[in-house]
Amino acid sequence: MALIRTLPQNNEAPGWAAILPPRTPSPSIEGEIHGDWVVLGAGFTGLAAARRLGEMRPDDRIIIVDAGEVGAGASGRNSGFAIDHAHTLGGGVAALESARGQKRLYSAAIEGMAEIVAAHEIECDWRNDGKFHGAASARGTEAYLKPLLEELDHIDEPHRWLNAREMEAELGINHYAAGIYTPGTVLVNPAALVRGLAGCLPENVTLAENSPVTTIDIAGPIKLTTLKGQVVAKRMILATNAFTPEMGFFQRKLLPFVGFASLSRVLTAGEQEALGGRASWGLTPANAFVGATIQRTGDNRILFRQTITYRDNLRHSAAELEQVRARHRQLFAARFAMLPDVTLDHTWGGYLSLSRNQDSAFGKFADNVWGAAGHQGIGVTRGTISGTLAADMAMGLDNPLLEDMMCIARPVSNPPSPLLDLGIALNTAWDAWRNRDEA
Ligand SMILES: Cc1cc2nc3c(=O)[nH]c(=O)nc-3n(C[C@H](O)[C@H](O)[C@H](O)COP(=O)(O)OP(=O)(O)OC[C@H]3O[C@@H](n4cnc5c(N)ncnc54)[C@H](O)[C@@H]3O)c2cc1C
Repeated sequence: MALIRTLPQNNEAPGWAAILPPRTPSPSIEGEIHGDWVVLGAGFTGLAAARRLGEMRPDDRIIIVDAGEVGAGASGRNSGFAIDHAHTLGGGVAALESARGQKRLYSAAIEGMAEIVAAHEIECDWRNDGKFHGAASARGTEAYLKPLLEELDHIDEPHRWLNAREMEAELGINHYAAGIYTPGTVLVNPAALVRGLAGCLPENVTLAENSPVTTIDIAGPIKLTTLKGQVVAKRMILATNAFTPEMGFFQRKLLPFVGFASLSRVLTAGEQEALGGRASWGLTPANAFVGATIQRTGDNRILFRQTITYRDNLRHSAAELEQVRARHRQLFAARFAMLPDVTLDHTWGGYLSLSRNQDSAFGKFADNVWGAAGHQGIGVTRGTISGTLAADMAMGLDNPLLEDMMCIARPVSNPPSPLLDLGIALNTAWDAWRNRDEA
């Protein structure tokens, strides 16, 4: 039996949810509830798994449980990029094959979500804008953009190279030395999307929110104890991403990181004119740890994501949040000098999970337990498709995408603490120094 010591603690609301109408959460678990399946975690991964089980097994009862409200976790706290290709592909033939496979996986996730969004008229600011991948320095251009360009060529991913002047014309800011545009990424308000997905689950799926699971027993039938009750099920899909090692799986293979983002108020008509460029766009930075991810939203706000830090206790303080807010304001001002009065009204942190070799934890975790976690910075699509595929695997269904998924399903192990902490600290400091011009 696993005793879960660290529960999600979503103190500050993500700006994405703060700008949405109020929503009534589904009832929490009270007393003992029985199901054929329990899905733990109601982010993109868990919702995709529950949907798939519900659709393919109409006579089964599926219970999906989350510690908080849908959209309060990382799935409602991210930058809102549903990305269709690997961020950084790495070199070699195997990496290129994996990149092709990843393109198939993430495109399937986007197609599936697009169908649901259209069928259920989910209002989530869904925009087929593609994305810019920008480098701020000559070094960033050589080290990150040029290799990516070659790899995009190899996998036949449509793309366009932009010089500094062209980047400024598209975005309105003159911060970038060069960039690559790819058309397949979709931009969204992620909290609105994940709420919408939770609102149209199949009828045989019961969603229980505000139900933190404190123990998991997988010795016989699966038993999850929550604060006020218990769920008993025959099989479980684990979809807790950064919290997965807390459940006793993939410890020292999945590494928890905290990422921070801010959201501005709506730009006035005068400010939109002063900014210029496209009416809506998304940019990912050449170096994800040093640079900033930016989204100009459909309702003319600016999303600004910067700072990702290893955080094995899955906690950040109010003081740290204040420091990050100040840093975001400073970096925002450096890029958007034409918007001196625009305030970043919301700043928040969220937990994601990375592995050293960028693989996911995916597949059968134990008898009657399957799961998907460790989606790097692309969990909107990778989480969605791996949740669907974990359900398929658990049901014994054949899905040709399983082969692609298994190619990225071997996260490597890391040394124990304090070696691990020291290694990450040194690596992070070296990366930040080398890439200081990308900030
Ligand atoms: C600032 C930031 C920016 C990001 N930007 C992007 C982006 O633009 N595009 C992208 O693709 N990805 C991005 N990511 C990553 C992305 O958010 C995650 O990969 C994705 O949300 C993972 O989805 P998931 O469903 O697997 O996990 P989560 O969304 O983390 O869901 C896991 C759920 O498990 C629940 N849970 C955990 N423990 C318990 C428990 N004991 N009891 C009950 N429930 C529990 C949690 O409450 C949570 O809701 C970003 C992340 C951050 C933090």
